[in-house]
Amino acid sequence: MTGQGTDKRTPYRIVIVGGGTAGWMAAALLSRLLPQQAYAITLIESDEIGTVGVGEATIPQLQLLNAVLGIDEDEFLRATQGSYKLGIEFVGWGTAESRYIHAFGNTGHAIGQTPFHHFWLRGQRLGETASLDAYCLNAAAAYADKFARGAAAQSKMLGGLVHAFHFDAGLYAQFLRRRAEPQGVCRVEGRITHAERDGETGDVAAVVLADGTRHAAELFVDCSGFRGLLIEEALATGYEDWTHWLPCDRALAVPSARLPDITPYTRSTAKRAGWQWRIPLQGRTGNGHVYCSAAIGDDEAASLLLSGLDGAPLADPRMLRFTTGRRKNFWNRNVVALGLAAGFMEPLESTSIHLVQSAIERVLKYLPNGPIRAADVAAYNAETIFEWERVRDFIVLHYHANARPEPFWRECAAMAVPDSLAAKLELFRANGRIVRAGEELFSEPGWLQVMVGQGVVPAGYHPLADGPSDADLRDYLALVRQTVAKHVAGMPDHAAFLAQHCRSG
Ligand SMILES: Cc1cc2nc3c(=O)[nH]c(=O)nc-3n(C[C@H](O)[C@H](O)[C@H](O)COP(=O)(O)OP(=O)(O)OC[C@H]3O[C@@H](n4cnc5c(N)ncnc54)[C@H](O)[C@@H]3O)c2cc1C
Repeated sequence: MTGQGTDKRTPYRIVIVGGGTAGWMAAALLSRLLPQQAYAITLIESDEIGTVGVGEATIPQLQLLNAVLGIDEDEFLRATQGSYKLGIEFVGWGTAESRYIHAFGNTGHAIGQTPFHHFWLRGQRLGETASLDAYCLNAAAAYADKFARGAAAQSKMLGGLVHAFHFDAGLYAQFLRRRAEPQGVCRVEGRITHAERDGETGDVAAVVLADGTRHAAELFVDCSGFRGLLIEEALATGYEDWTHWLPCDRALAVPSARLPDITPYTRSTAKRAGWQWRIPLQGRTGNGHVYCSAAIGDDEAASLLLSGLDGAPLADPRMLRFTTGRRKNFWNRNVVALGLAAGFMEPLESTSIHLVQSAIERVLKYLPNGPIRAADVAAYNAETIFEWERVRDFIVLHYHANARPEPFWRECAAMAVPDSLAAKLELFRANGRIVRAGEELFSEPGWLQVMVGQGVVPAGYHPLADGPSDADLRDYLALVRQTVAKHVAGMPDHAAFLAQHCRSG
Protein backbone atom coordinates (compact mmCIF):
# COMPACT_ATOMS: atom_id res chain seq x y z
CA MET A 1 0.00 0.00 0.00
CA THR A 2 1.19 3.49 -0.75
CA GLY A 3 0.80 6.37 1.65
CA GLN A 4 -2.06 8.73 2.29
CA GLY A 5 -3.08 11.71 0.32
CA THR A 6 -1.57 14.70 2.06
CA ASP A 7 1.36 14.71 -0.37
CA LYS A 8 0.27 16.87 -3.31
CA ARG A 9 2.40 14.88 -5.79
CA THR A 10 0.81 11.54 -5.03
CA PRO A 11 -2.91 11.92 -4.44
CA TYR A 12 -4.57 9.05 -2.65
CA ARG A 13 -6.59 7.17 -5.24
CA ILE A 14 -10.10 6.01 -4.47
CA VAL A 15 -11.94 4.00 -7.11
CA ILE A 16 -15.69 3.58 -6.67
CA VAL A 17 -16.95 0.58 -8.61
CA GLY A 18 -20.60 1.12 -9.59
CA GLY A 19 -22.85 4.09 -10.30
CA GLY A 20 -26.13 3.13 -8.65
CA THR A 21 -27.51 4.93 -5.61
CA ALA A 22 -24.64 3.65 -3.45
CA GLY A 23 -21.87 4.62 -5.87
CA TRP A 24 -23.11 8.15 -6.49
CA MET A 25 -23.86 8.75 -2.80
CA ALA A 26 -20.26 7.74 -2.02
CA ALA A 27 -18.90 9.87 -4.86
CA ALA A 28 -20.92 12.93 -3.84
CA LEU A 29 -20.07 12.73 -0.14
CA LEU A 30 -16.39 11.80 -0.43
CA SER A 31 -15.74 14.48 -3.05
CA ARG A 32 -17.54 17.05 -0.93
CA LEU A 33 -15.50 16.32 2.19
CA LEU A 34 -12.04 15.24 0.98
CA PRO A 35 -9.64 17.89 -0.38
CA GLN A 36 -9.48 17.61 -4.16
CA GLN A 37 -5.71 18.12 -4.38
CA ALA A 38 -5.04 15.20 -2.04
CA TYR A 39 -7.62 12.65 -3.22
CA ALA A 40 -8.32 11.46 -6.75
CA ILE A 41 -11.79 9.90 -6.89
CA THR A 42 -12.87 7.85 -9.90
CA LEU A 43 -16.27 6.22 -10.37
CA ILE A 44 -16.63 3.41 -12.90
CA GLU A 45 -20.06 2.34 -14.08
CA SER A 46 -21.43 0.32 -16.94
CA ASP A 47 -24.45 1.54 -18.91
CA GLU A 48 -24.62 -1.96 -20.38
CA ILE A 49 -25.15 -3.51 -16.92
CA GLY A 50 -27.31 -0.69 -15.51
CA THR A 51 -28.53 -0.25 -11.94
CA VAL A 52 -31.09 -2.08 -9.83
CA GLY A 53 -33.41 0.95 -10.30
CA VAL A 54 -35.45 0.54 -7.11
CA GLY A 55 -35.07 2.08 -3.67
CA GLU A 56 -37.48 4.92 -3.36
CA ALA A 57 -38.31 5.34 0.32
CA THR A 58 -35.95 6.77 2.91
CA ILE A 59 -35.72 7.63 6.60
CA PRO A 60 -35.21 11.12 8.10
CA GLN A 61 -31.43 10.83 8.41
CA LEU A 62 -31.18 11.57 4.68
CA GLN A 63 -31.77 15.21 5.62
CA LEU A 64 -28.31 15.18 7.21
CA LEU A 65 -26.75 13.99 3.98
CA ASN A 66 -28.58 16.72 2.08
CA ALA A 67 -27.29 19.29 4.57
CA VAL A 68 -23.67 18.15 4.24
CA LEU A 69 -23.96 18.16 0.45
CA GLY A 70 -25.53 21.63 0.55
CA ILE A 71 -28.65 20.39 -1.22
CA ASP A 72 -31.72 22.60 -1.35
CA GLU A 73 -34.68 20.41 -0.38
CA ASP A 74 -37.13 21.90 -2.89
CA GLU A 75 -34.66 21.53 -5.74
CA PHE A 76 -33.97 17.94 -4.66
CA LEU A 77 -37.68 17.00 -4.62
CA ARG A 78 -38.31 18.69 -7.97
CA ALA A 79 -35.39 16.88 -9.58
CA THR A 80 -36.34 13.44 -8.24
CA GLN A 81 -40.17 13.65 -8.60
CA GLY A 82 -40.11 13.30 -4.84
CA SER A 83 -42.67 13.57 -2.07
CA TYR A 84 -42.54 13.75 1.71
CA LYS A 85 -42.69 10.72 3.97
CA LEU A 86 -43.87 10.89 7.60
CA GLY A 87 -43.82 7.17 8.28
CA ILE A 88 -44.92 3.75 7.04
CA GLU A 89 -48.44 2.42 7.33
CA PHE A 90 -48.61 -1.32 7.98
CA VAL A 91 -51.83 -2.92 6.82
CA GLY A 92 -52.72 -6.48 7.80
CA TRP A 93 -49.48 -7.22 9.64
CA GLY A 94 -50.89 -8.13 13.08
CA THR A 95 -54.17 -9.69 12.05
CA ALA A 96 -55.51 -9.47 8.48
CA GLU A 97 -57.64 -6.43 9.50
CA SER A 98 -55.07 -4.56 11.58
CA ARG A 99 -53.60 -1.22 10.54
CA TYR A 100 -51.01 0.94 12.27
CA ILE A 101 -48.40 3.48 11.35
CA HIS A 102 -44.73 3.50 12.24
CA ALA A 103 -44.37 7.24 12.22
CA PHE A 104 -41.14 9.17 12.65
CA GLY A 105 -40.76 11.50 15.62
CA ASN A 106 -42.13 11.27 19.12
CA THR A 107 -45.30 9.77 20.47
CA GLY A 108 -46.82 11.78 23.32
CA HIS A 109 -44.82 13.62 25.91
CA ALA A 110 -42.91 12.07 28.82
CA ILE A 111 -43.69 13.12 32.38
CA GLY A 112 -40.38 13.53 34.18
CA GLN A 113 -38.26 10.50 33.37
CA THR A 114 -41.23 8.25 32.66
CA PRO A 115 -41.84 7.68 28.94
CA PHE A 116 -45.30 8.63 27.72
CA HIS A 117 -46.36 5.14 26.68
CA HIS A 118 -46.47 3.94 30.30
CA PHE A 119 -49.22 6.50 30.95
CA TRP A 120 -50.93 5.40 27.76
CA LEU A 121 -50.76 1.77 28.91
CA ARG A 122 -52.33 2.69 32.23
CA GLY A 123 -54.99 4.70 30.40
CA GLN A 124 -55.91 1.62 28.37
CA ARG A 125 -56.73 -0.17 31.61
CA LEU A 126 -58.95 2.72 32.59
CA GLY A 127 -60.88 2.28 29.35
CA GLU A 128 -59.14 4.91 27.22
CA THR A 129 -59.39 3.56 23.69
CA ALA A 130 -57.40 6.01 21.55
CA SER A 131 -54.53 4.32 19.70
CA LEU A 132 -50.95 5.58 19.83
CA ASP A 133 -51.54 7.36 16.50
CA ALA A 134 -53.77 9.92 18.22
CA TYR A 135 -50.81 11.01 20.38
CA CYS A 136 -48.28 11.27 17.57
CA LEU A 137 -47.97 14.36 15.39
CA ASN A 138 -46.42 12.46 12.49
CA ALA A 139 -49.07 9.72 12.50
CA ALA A 140 -51.99 12.14 12.74
CA ALA A 141 -50.58 14.38 9.98
CA ALA A 142 -49.92 11.35 7.76
CA TYR A 143 -53.48 10.06 8.07
CA ALA A 144 -54.84 13.55 7.42
CA ASP A 145 -52.59 13.89 4.29
CA LYS A 146 -51.03 17.01 5.82
CA PHE A 147 -47.49 18.28 5.82
CA ALA A 148 -45.50 21.22 7.18
CA ARG A 149 -41.86 21.94 7.84
CA GLY A 150 -39.84 24.55 9.68
CA ALA A 151 -41.56 26.58 12.41
CA ALA A 152 -45.06 25.50 11.25
CA ALA A 153 -44.12 21.89 11.97
CA GLN A 154 -42.95 22.53 15.53
CA SER A 155 -44.95 21.93 18.70
CA LYS A 156 -43.55 22.93 22.08
CA MET A 157 -45.11 19.95 23.79
CA LEU A 158 -44.68 17.26 21.13
CA GLY A 159 -41.48 18.16 19.35
CA GLY A 160 -41.93 18.61 15.63
CA LEU A 161 -42.95 16.76 12.52
CA VAL A 162 -40.01 14.65 11.38
CA HIS A 163 -39.81 13.90 7.68
CA ALA A 164 -38.05 11.74 5.16
CA PHE A 165 -38.56 11.47 1.39
CA HIS A 166 -39.85 9.28 -1.40
CA PHE A 167 -38.03 9.71 -4.71
CA ASP A 168 -37.29 8.14 -8.06
CA ALA A 169 -34.10 6.12 -7.57
CA GLY A 170 -32.81 6.64 -11.11
CA LEU A 171 -33.33 10.40 -10.93
CA TYR A 172 -31.65 10.48 -7.53
CA ALA A 173 -28.45 8.88 -8.86
CA GLN A 174 -28.41 11.40 -11.75
CA PHE A 175 -28.99 14.26 -9.30
CA LEU A 176 -26.03 13.17 -7.18
CA ARG A 177 -23.87 12.72 -10.27
CA ARG A 178 -24.54 16.34 -11.24
CA ARG A 179 -23.10 17.36 -7.88
CA ALA A 180 -20.21 14.89 -7.70
CA GLU A 181 -18.61 15.58 -11.09
CA PRO A 182 -18.12 19.33 -10.52
CA GLN A 183 -16.59 18.40 -7.15
CA GLY A 184 -13.84 16.55 -9.01
CA VAL A 185 -15.13 12.99 -9.40
CA CYS A 186 -13.92 11.43 -12.64
CA ARG A 187 -16.61 9.20 -14.18
CA VAL A 188 -15.52 6.31 -16.37
CA GLU A 189 -18.02 4.38 -18.45
CA GLY A 190 -17.10 0.78 -19.12
CA ARG A 191 -17.50 -2.83 -18.03
CA ILE A 192 -14.98 -4.15 -15.56
CA THR A 193 -13.89 -7.64 -16.58
CA HIS A 194 -11.68 -8.50 -13.63
CA ALA A 195 -9.63 -7.28 -10.71
CA GLU A 196 -5.87 -7.61 -10.38
CA ARG A 197 -4.48 -8.62 -6.99
CA ASP A 198 -1.12 -7.49 -5.61
CA GLY A 199 1.08 -10.60 -5.57
CA GLU A 200 2.67 -9.65 -2.26
CA THR A 201 -0.12 -8.18 -0.13
CA GLY A 202 -3.16 -9.80 -1.73
CA ASP A 203 -4.87 -6.38 -1.92
CA VAL A 204 -6.80 -5.40 -5.01
CA ALA A 205 -4.26 -3.51 -7.10
CA ALA A 206 -6.45 -2.48 -10.04
CA VAL A 207 -9.64 -3.13 -11.93
CA VAL A 208 -9.44 -3.80 -15.65
CA LEU A 209 -12.11 -2.78 -18.17
CA ALA A 210 -13.25 -4.64 -21.28
CA ASP A 211 -11.27 -2.19 -23.45
CA GLY A 212 -8.11 -3.09 -21.52
CA THR A 213 -7.78 0.13 -19.50
CA ARG A 214 -6.60 -0.38 -15.96
CA HIS A 215 -7.54 1.67 -12.89
CA ALA A 216 -5.26 1.30 -9.88
CA ALA A 217 -6.09 2.67 -6.43
CA GLU A 218 -5.16 2.55 -2.77
CA LEU A 219 -8.80 2.14 -1.71
CA PHE A 220 -11.68 0.55 -3.64
CA VAL A 221 -15.30 1.18 -2.75
CA ASP A 222 -17.33 -1.72 -4.08
CA CYS A 223 -20.80 -0.47 -5.07
CA SER A 224 -21.24 -3.02 -7.84
CA GLY A 225 -24.60 -4.34 -6.64
CA PHE A 226 -25.67 -7.85 -5.62
CA ARG A 227 -22.72 -9.68 -7.17
CA GLY A 228 -20.07 -7.82 -5.16
CA LEU A 229 -17.49 -7.65 -7.93
CA LEU A 230 -14.56 -6.97 -5.61
CA ILE A 231 -15.69 -7.90 -2.10
CA GLU A 232 -16.92 -11.34 -3.19
CA GLU A 233 -15.76 -12.21 -6.69
CA ALA A 234 -12.19 -10.94 -6.15
CA LEU A 235 -11.74 -11.39 -2.39
CA ALA A 236 -14.18 -14.24 -1.55
CA THR A 237 -15.17 -12.52 1.71
CA GLY A 238 -18.12 -14.84 2.40
CA TYR A 239 -21.79 -14.17 3.15
CA GLU A 240 -23.87 -14.66 6.28
CA ASP A 241 -27.30 -15.86 5.20
CA TRP A 242 -30.30 -14.60 7.24
CA THR A 243 -33.01 -16.35 5.26
CA HIS A 244 -34.03 -18.45 8.28
CA TRP A 245 -35.20 -15.18 9.88
CA LEU A 246 -36.24 -13.29 6.79
CA PRO A 247 -37.45 -15.89 4.28
CA CYS A 248 -38.53 -13.60 1.43
CA ASP A 249 -36.17 -13.94 -1.52
CA ARG A 250 -37.85 -12.23 -4.49
CA ALA A 251 -39.52 -8.96 -5.35
CA LEU A 252 -41.66 -7.91 -8.28
CA ALA A 253 -41.61 -4.15 -8.89
CA VAL A 254 -44.05 -2.19 -11.05
CA PRO A 255 -44.87 1.51 -11.43
CA SER A 256 -48.51 2.59 -11.60
CA ALA A 257 -50.37 5.78 -12.43
CA ARG A 258 -49.98 8.59 -9.97
CA LEU A 259 -52.40 8.73 -7.03
CA PRO A 260 -54.91 11.61 -6.99
CA ASP A 261 -53.78 12.41 -3.44
CA ILE A 262 -50.09 11.93 -2.81
CA THR A 263 -50.13 10.44 0.67
CA PRO A 264 -47.18 11.53 2.82
CA TYR A 265 -46.36 7.98 3.87
CA THR A 266 -45.30 4.63 2.47
CA ARG A 267 -47.82 1.79 2.70
CA SER A 268 -46.83 -1.80 3.36
CA THR A 269 -49.62 -4.35 3.04
CA ALA A 270 -49.07 -7.92 4.24
CA LYS A 271 -49.95 -10.61 1.67
CA ARG A 272 -50.26 -14.35 2.03
CA ALA A 273 -46.50 -15.00 1.78
CA GLY A 274 -44.90 -11.57 1.85
CA TRP A 275 -45.95 -7.96 1.51
CA GLN A 276 -46.59 -5.19 -0.98
CA TRP A 277 -45.19 -1.66 -0.93
CA ARG A 278 -46.76 1.52 -2.26
CA ILE A 279 -44.60 4.62 -2.62
CA PRO A 280 -46.35 7.76 -3.92
CA LEU A 281 -44.22 10.01 -6.12
CA GLN A 282 -45.22 13.14 -8.00
CA GLY A 283 -45.24 11.53 -11.44
CA ARG A 284 -46.16 7.92 -10.65
CA THR A 285 -46.54 5.45 -7.80
CA GLY A 286 -43.85 2.86 -7.04
CA ASN A 287 -45.14 -0.60 -6.10
CA GLY A 288 -43.61 -3.95 -5.38
CA HIS A 289 -44.38 -7.34 -3.91
CA VAL A 290 -41.70 -8.91 -1.72
CA TYR A 291 -42.37 -12.63 -1.30
CA CYS A 292 -41.04 -16.02 -0.35
CA SER A 293 -40.66 -18.16 -3.48
CA ALA A 294 -40.94 -21.37 -1.44
CA ALA A 295 -44.44 -20.34 -0.31
CA ILE A 296 -45.95 -18.70 -3.39
CA GLY A 297 -45.37 -19.02 -7.15
CA ASP A 298 -44.17 -16.13 -9.31
CA ASP A 299 -47.40 -15.97 -11.33
CA GLU A 300 -49.58 -15.78 -8.26
CA ALA A 301 -47.23 -13.21 -6.72
CA ALA A 302 -47.56 -11.09 -9.88
CA SER A 303 -51.34 -11.28 -9.94
CA LEU A 304 -51.56 -10.42 -6.23
CA LEU A 305 -49.34 -7.39 -6.91
CA LEU A 306 -51.36 -6.19 -9.88
CA SER A 307 -54.70 -6.72 -8.17
CA GLY A 308 -53.47 -4.64 -5.21
CA LEU A 309 -52.53 -1.52 -7.23
CA ASP A 310 -54.37 1.75 -6.68
CA GLY A 311 -53.79 2.90 -10.28
CA ALA A 312 -53.24 1.39 -13.73
CA PRO A 313 -49.86 -0.37 -14.14
CA LEU A 314 -47.42 1.54 -16.35
CA ALA A 315 -45.16 -1.43 -17.19
CA ASP A 316 -44.84 -5.17 -16.70
CA PRO A 317 -43.63 -6.29 -13.26
CA ARG A 318 -39.85 -6.71 -13.07
CA MET A 319 -38.37 -9.45 -10.90
CA LEU A 320 -35.44 -9.09 -8.52
CA ARG A 321 -33.94 -12.04 -6.64
CA PHE A 322 -32.01 -11.71 -3.41
CA THR A 323 -30.63 -13.55 -0.42
CA THR A 324 -31.11 -11.65 2.80
CA GLY A 325 -27.93 -11.36 4.83
CA ARG A 326 -24.60 -9.59 4.91
CA ARG A 327 -20.99 -9.94 3.88
CA LYS A 328 -18.98 -11.58 6.65
CA ASN A 329 -16.81 -8.48 6.54
CA PHE A 330 -17.91 -5.19 5.02
CA TRP A 331 -14.31 -3.99 4.75
CA ASN A 332 -11.79 -6.59 3.56
CA ARG A 333 -8.17 -5.67 2.75
CA ASN A 334 -8.42 -2.45 0.69
CA VAL A 335 -12.05 -2.96 -0.38
CA VAL A 336 -15.10 -1.52 1.40
CA ALA A 337 -18.49 -2.72 0.19
CA LEU A 338 -21.52 -0.43 0.20
CA GLY A 339 -25.13 -0.88 -0.87
CA LEU A 340 -26.24 -4.17 -2.38
CA ALA A 341 -22.60 -5.30 -2.58
CA ALA A 342 -22.53 -5.19 1.24
CA GLY A 343 -25.62 -7.35 1.73
CA PHE A 344 -29.38 -7.19 1.53
CA MET A 345 -32.19 -6.42 3.90
CA GLU A 346 -35.65 -6.13 2.46
CA PRO A 347 -37.05 -2.61 2.15
CA LEU A 348 -39.72 -3.05 4.84
CA GLU A 349 -38.32 -0.17 6.92
CA SER A 350 -36.56 1.66 4.05
CA THR A 351 -33.16 1.21 5.64
CA SER A 352 -30.79 0.31 2.78
CA ILE A 353 -30.06 3.81 1.52
CA HIS A 354 -29.49 4.89 5.10
CA LEU A 355 -27.05 2.01 5.62
CA VAL A 356 -25.12 3.31 2.62
CA GLN A 357 -25.08 6.80 4.12
CA SER A 358 -23.87 5.69 7.54
CA ALA A 359 -21.27 3.39 5.97
CA ILE A 360 -19.78 6.31 4.01
CA GLU A 361 -19.67 8.36 7.21
CA ARG A 362 -17.86 5.44 8.83
CA VAL A 363 -15.40 5.15 5.93
CA LEU A 364 -14.56 8.79 6.56
CA LYS A 365 -14.19 8.09 10.28
CA TYR A 366 -11.66 5.32 9.59
CA LEU A 367 -10.08 6.90 6.51
CA PRO A 368 -6.55 5.45 6.27
CA ASN A 369 -3.70 7.72 7.18
CA GLY A 370 -0.99 5.78 5.37
CA PRO A 371 -1.28 2.00 5.10
CA ILE A 372 -4.63 0.49 5.98
CA ARG A 373 -4.48 -0.73 9.60
CA ALA A 374 -6.05 -3.98 10.71
CA ALA A 375 -7.36 -2.30 13.88
CA ASP A 376 -9.25 0.32 11.84
CA VAL A 377 -10.74 -2.33 9.60
CA ALA A 378 -11.79 -4.43 12.62
CA ALA A 379 -13.44 -1.43 14.30
CA TYR A 380 -15.23 -0.50 11.06
CA ASN A 381 -16.54 -4.03 10.65
CA ALA A 382 -17.64 -4.36 14.29
CA GLU A 383 -19.64 -1.11 14.13
CA THR A 384 -21.20 -1.98 10.80
CA ILE A 385 -22.15 -5.50 11.90
CA PHE A 386 -23.80 -4.09 15.04
CA GLU A 387 -25.79 -1.60 12.95
CA TRP A 388 -26.93 -4.24 10.46
CA GLU A 389 -27.88 -6.78 13.11
CA ARG A 390 -30.06 -4.29 15.02
CA VAL A 391 -31.85 -3.26 11.83
CA ARG A 392 -32.31 -6.96 11.04
CA ASP A 393 -33.92 -7.49 14.48
CA PHE A 394 -36.35 -4.65 13.85
CA ILE A 395 -37.42 -6.16 10.53
CA VAL A 396 -37.66 -9.67 12.00
CA LEU A 397 -40.03 -8.28 14.66
CA HIS A 398 -42.61 -7.49 11.94
CA TYR A 399 -42.53 -11.06 10.69
CA HIS A 400 -42.41 -12.78 14.04
CA ALA A 401 -45.12 -10.90 15.97
CA ASN A 402 -48.09 -11.58 13.75
CA ALA A 403 -51.48 -13.23 14.13
CA ARG A 404 -52.19 -14.07 10.50
CA PRO A 405 -53.47 -17.56 9.73
CA GLU A 406 -51.52 -18.47 6.54
CA PRO A 407 -48.84 -21.21 6.88
CA PHE A 408 -46.07 -18.77 5.88
CA TRP A 409 -47.01 -16.42 8.71
CA ARG A 410 -47.51 -19.22 11.26
CA GLU A 411 -43.97 -20.40 10.51
CA CYS A 412 -42.64 -16.86 11.01
CA ALA A 413 -44.48 -16.62 14.32
CA ALA A 414 -42.97 -19.93 15.46
CA MET A 415 -39.36 -19.19 14.50
CA ALA A 416 -36.62 -18.72 17.08
CA VAL A 417 -35.65 -15.05 16.78
CA PRO A 418 -32.12 -13.65 17.34
CA ASP A 419 -31.23 -13.46 21.07
CA SER A 420 -30.94 -9.67 20.90
CA LEU A 421 -34.55 -9.42 19.68
CA ALA A 422 -35.79 -12.04 22.17
CA ALA A 423 -34.33 -9.92 25.00
CA LYS A 424 -36.08 -6.79 23.69
CA LEU A 425 -39.40 -8.58 23.45
CA GLU A 426 -39.08 -9.99 26.96
CA LEU A 427 -38.42 -6.55 28.45
CA PHE A 428 -41.38 -5.03 26.63
CA ARG A 429 -43.80 -7.87 27.34
CA ALA A 430 -43.15 -7.67 31.08
CA ASN A 431 -43.41 -3.96 31.84
CA GLY A 432 -43.40 -2.06 28.57
CA ARG A 433 -39.71 -1.23 28.85
CA ILE A 434 -37.78 -0.36 25.71
CA VAL A 435 -34.02 -0.06 25.93
CA ARG A 436 -32.11 1.31 22.99
CA ALA A 437 -28.83 -0.57 22.61
CA GLY A 438 -25.89 1.76 22.04
CA GLU A 439 -26.13 3.60 18.74
CA GLU A 440 -28.72 1.30 17.20
CA LEU A 441 -30.68 2.95 14.39
CA PHE A 442 -34.24 2.69 15.64
CA SER A 443 -35.07 4.54 18.82
CA GLU A 444 -37.73 3.94 21.49
CA PRO A 445 -40.73 5.47 19.63
CA GLY A 446 -40.12 3.24 16.60
CA TRP A 447 -39.84 0.04 18.63
CA LEU A 448 -42.94 1.07 20.61
CA GLN A 449 -45.12 1.65 17.57
CA VAL A 450 -44.11 -1.54 15.84
CA MET A 451 -44.40 -3.73 18.95
CA VAL A 452 -47.83 -2.36 19.81
CA GLY A 453 -48.90 -2.33 16.17
CA GLN A 454 -47.91 -5.98 15.75
CA GLY A 455 -49.95 -6.89 18.83
CA VAL A 456 -47.24 -7.28 21.47
CA VAL A 457 -49.03 -6.30 24.68
CA PRO A 458 -47.09 -5.56 27.88
CA ALA A 459 -48.37 -7.24 31.06
CA GLY A 460 -47.55 -4.15 33.13
CA TYR A 461 -46.17 -0.63 33.00
CA HIS A 462 -43.71 1.50 34.94
CA PRO A 463 -44.88 2.01 38.56
CA LEU A 464 -44.32 5.78 38.30
CA ALA A 465 -47.20 5.92 35.81
CA ASP A 466 -49.46 5.29 38.82
CA GLY A 467 -48.53 8.74 40.18
CA PRO A 468 -51.41 10.84 38.74
CA SER A 469 -54.99 10.25 39.86
CA ASP A 470 -57.31 8.53 37.36
CA ALA A 471 -58.95 11.88 36.52
CA ASP A 472 -55.60 13.66 36.07
CA LEU A 473 -54.36 10.89 33.84
CA ARG A 474 -57.45 11.06 31.63
CA ASP A 475 -57.09 14.86 31.43
CA TYR A 476 -53.45 14.56 30.47
CA LEU A 477 -54.14 12.02 27.72
CA ALA A 478 -56.96 14.21 26.39
CA LEU A 479 -54.68 17.27 26.41
CA VAL A 480 -52.04 15.47 24.32
CA ARG A 481 -54.66 14.26 21.83
CA GLN A 482 -56.16 17.74 21.52
CA THR A 483 -52.73 19.30 21.03
CA VAL A 484 -51.98 16.84 18.23
CA ALA A 485 -55.34 17.39 16.52
CA LYS A 486 -55.14 21.18 16.77
CA HIS A 487 -51.63 21.29 15.39
CA VAL A 488 -52.41 19.01 12.48
CA ALA A 489 -55.60 20.94 11.60
CA GLY A 490 -53.45 24.01 10.96
CA MET A 491 -51.12 22.29 8.49
CA PRO A 492 -51.48 22.48 4.70
CA ASP A 493 -52.34 19.45 2.57
CA HIS A 494 -49.30 17.50 1.48
CA ALA A 495 -50.23 17.72 -2.22
CA ALA A 496 -50.79 21.48 -1.93
CA PHE A 497 -47.45 21.87 -0.16
CA LEU A 498 -45.66 19.99 -2.94
CA ALA A 499 -47.42 22.02 -5.61
CA GLN A 500 -46.43 25.27 -3.94
CA HIS A 501 -42.79 24.48 -3.10
CA CYS A 502 -41.43 21.60 -5.13
CA ARG A 503 -43.63 20.65 -8.05
CA SER A 504 -41.63 18.56 -10.49
CA GLY A 505 -41.79 19.04 -14.23
C1 LIG B 1 -36.91 -4.70 -4.41
C2 LIG B 1 -36.06 -3.69 -3.73
C3 LIG B 1 -36.64 -2.55 -3.17
C4 LIG B 1 -35.86 -1.62 -2.50
N1 LIG B 1 -36.44 -0.54 -1.90
C5 LIG B 1 -35.69 0.29 -1.14
C6 LIG B 1 -36.26 1.39 -0.45
O1 LIG B 1 -37.46 1.66 -0.56
N2 LIG B 1 -35.46 2.14 0.32
C7 LIG B 1 -34.13 1.90 0.45
O2 LIG B 1 -33.46 2.59 1.22
N3 LIG B 1 -33.55 0.90 -0.24
C8 LIG B 1 -34.29 0.10 -1.02
N4 LIG B 1 -33.70 -0.90 -1.71
C9 LIG B 1 -32.25 -1.00 -1.72
C10 LIG B 1 -31.70 0.02 -2.73
O3 LIG B 1 -32.28 -0.20 -3.99
C11 LIG B 1 -30.22 -0.14 -2.83
O4 LIG B 1 -29.65 -0.06 -1.56
C12 LIG B 1 -29.66 0.99 -3.65
O5 LIG B 1 -30.31 1.12 -4.87
C13 LIG B 1 -28.20 0.78 -3.89
O6 LIG B 1 -27.98 -0.07 -4.96
P1 LIG B 1 -26.49 -0.20 -5.41
O7 LIG B 1 -26.01 1.13 -5.87
O8 LIG B 1 -25.73 -0.88 -4.33
O9 LIG B 1 -26.55 -1.25 -6.64
P2 LIG B 1 -27.02 -1.08 -8.15
O10 LIG B 1 -28.10 -0.12 -8.33
O11 LIG B 1 -27.23 -2.48 -8.63
O12 LIG B 1 -25.75 -0.48 -8.90
C14 LIG B 1 -24.64 -1.28 -9.25
C15 LIG B 1 -23.71 -0.48 -10.13
O13 LIG B 1 -22.55 -1.26 -10.40
C16 LIG B 1 -22.28 -1.23 -11.80
N5 LIG B 1 -21.58 -2.45 -12.16
C17 LIG B 1 -21.87 -3.72 -11.80
N6 LIG B 1 -21.01 -4.58 -12.37
C18 LIG B 1 -20.15 -3.82 -13.10
C19 LIG B 1 -19.05 -4.12 -13.94
N7 LIG B 1 -18.65 -5.36 -14.17
N8 LIG B 1 -18.40 -3.09 -14.52
C20 LIG B 1 -18.79 -1.80 -14.32
N9 LIG B 1 -19.83 -1.46 -13.54
C21 LIG B 1 -20.51 -2.46 -12.95
C22 LIG B 1 -23.65 -1.09 -12.43
O14 LIG B 1 -23.55 -0.62 -13.75
C23 LIG B 1 -24.30 -0.12 -11.50
O15 LIG B 1 -23.92 1.20 -11.84
C24 LIG B 1 -34.46 -1.82 -2.42
C25 LIG B 1 -33.88 -2.92 -3.04
C26 LIG B 1 -34.65 -3.85 -3.69
C27 LIG B 1 -33.99 -5.02 -4.35
